[in-house]
Amino acid sequence: MTTTIIIGGVAGGASCAARLRRNDEQMNIVVLERGPHVSFANCGLPYYLSGIIAKEEELLLATPEFFKQRFNIDVRTGNGVTSIDRKKRVVKVRRSEDSKEYSLAYDHVVLAPGASPIRPPLPGIDLPGIFSLRTVPDSNVIKSWIHQHKVKRAVVIGGGFIGIEVTENLHHLGIAVTLIERMNQVMVALDPEMAQPLANQLRSAGVDLRLGCEVTAFEKKPRSRKDELVVKLGNGEQVEADLVILAIGVRPESELAKACGLDLGPRGHIVVNSHMRTSDPNIFAVGDAVEVKCAITGGRTAVPLAGPANRQGRLAADVIVGRRRSFRGVQGTAVCGAFGLTVATTGLNERAARAHGIPCEVVYAHPRNHVGYYPGASTINMKLVFDSGTGRVLGAQAVGMDGAERRIDVIAMAIQMGATVFDLEETELCYAPQYGAAKDPVNMVGMVAANVMRGDLTIAHWDQMASGGALVLDVRTAKEVKDDPIPTSLHIPIDELRSRLKALPKNKPIQVVCGVGIRAYNAIRILRQRGYQASLLSGGVSTWRYHKGTKPSR
Ligand SMILES: Cc1cc2nc3c(=O)[nH]c(=O)nc-3n(C[C@H](O)[C@H](O)[C@H](O)COP(=O)(O)OP(=O)(O)OC[C@H]3O[C@@H](n4cnc5c(N)ncnc54)[C@H](O)[C@@H]3O)c2cc1C
Repeated sequence: MTTTIIIGGVAGGASCAARLRRNDEQMNIVVLERGPHVSFANCGLPYYLSGIIAKEEELLLATPEFFKQRFNIDVRTGNGVTSIDRKKRVVKVRRSEDSKEYSLAYDHVVLAPGASPIRPPLPGIDLPGIFSLRTVPDSNVIKSWIHQHKVKRAVVIGGGFIGIEVTENLHHLGIAVTLIERMNQVMVALDPEMAQPLANQLRSAGVDLRLGCEVTAFEKKPRSRKDELVVKLGNGEQVEADLVILAIGVRPESELAKACGLDLGPRGHIVVNSHMRTSDPNIFAVGDAVEVKCAITGGRTAVPLAGPANRQGRLAADVIVGRRRSFRGVQGTAVCGAFGLTVATTGLNERAARAHGIPCEVVYAHPRNHVGYYPGASTINMKLVFDSGTGRVLGAQAVGMDGAERRIDVIAMAIQMGATVFDLEETELCYAPQYGAAKDPVNMVGMVAANVMRGDLTIAHWDQMASGGALVLDVRTAKEVKDDPIPTSLHIPIDELRSRLKALPKNKPIQVVCGVGIRAYNAIRILRQRGYQASLLSGGVSTWRYHKGTKPSR
């Protein structure tokens, strides 16, 4: 009988254990988990803070007893692995209840230790009231701090997925939140203009959002009898708080791997091949701790998300029992909701695509989540990034009140299958008035991009407005122009264009704009077929609104 020891019993480790048992009834499977819980829902923790998820038990997806009964797996919580002896094939374990150490022999090890929240070595970082969120005990400590200190003001540091979710949940408790982010945008997985609607949403909900702002130190508030804190910022400002949550990213827990000499990547992740094997053929690694292939560039990357961790755990279990399977790579498909707005992304954003030197183009579209005539339609702001040579889809971002994540899921699958914008144009998706449109938003971005690829449409971006001496032509109605003016040089409503062509020069470029790009596209087709050099200001006024004030990704 062979023995597999799994180190870490949450997303990657628990999936690996269950799959191993389904693959092999005979194998001795031991899961060693340092913490008090196995297979808990870390993704639910922000919602547990606010009480939206009411009970701790709801986060505990399985117990050691369940694993024993259902899968005959030996799960030991409170058992941390302290070293791996690769020569003897033995791991050393410390039991937290009595600090006793013991050894276990293995045939295979699966490392699934995850990643720990970064705690920067700033002055005052160890003051009471400054927390990170990773485990159920972390959440319980924060919950009781909120209760005991009657927290009214909180500072959340980091405007990524966890920071935003924590902000929303603290706000839900009636706590005034200051969200501090070092970059000039929230959610760096998105391009700056696509993150703008979320920043607006946070501010209009009452969050004090400070962008481009760095925390330099923490201090206890002078003469305060409570544990009040002062958070000092690089710009000389300071913010008072009863609670601080750090959400500035995670670091792979690769100390064990490093100590036993496994290969690590430049940022400390465990290096694995496509079978999730480390540099030692008997040791596998999965989840937040590993560096894997980027499904789009083919380079190395690390994406700390639950989906990849689960799939990698399952795949490692298959490889251990001798099946030939390979991990396809990660593409960073992620979603986050805050204050009713959903932000979703997959693949490369424009910034990343350009940083990788991929010749790319982007298009924007602002379709409705479902047909406008069915009540309750709302806009989805979409951006598609594609290879300008081949039309291959590289990435997409969507922001909207409803239906954003569904569109990104479709495009995520398309990316995995190596699809082009022509595939998105042709994709057949479900439609009825309350769900979508006969031309789904996915088709819409595909069609715009396909028009560009075919040369039916030339696009200019907002930071290129009026460049090269271009005349900017607004084809919206007079009312729209009056209500929402933009800096254009000429206004001719689309329906008057054919009769007013004489007002337009043939010897200089014309950039055409409307609300979202559809009327401008029609205008361009009229103009191009008559010999005018017309291009589209991509995404229309809707994109301009979010674009102004942000730094272009080009
Ligand atoms: C607050 C929060 C919200 C999140 N929300 C989302 C979300 O909405 N969507 C999403 O996709 N992802 C989300 N994530 C990320 C997701 O939870 C992780 O990507 C995923 O859990 C990684 O799985 P893993 O198995 O690699 O590591 P983990 O799930 O972190 O499990 C690793 C386990 O290994 C244990 N361990 C470490 N070292 C040892 C050792 N030496 N011995 C024994 N045990 C050890 C740790 O105690 C830990 O329990 C969230 C994470 C957090 C913290």
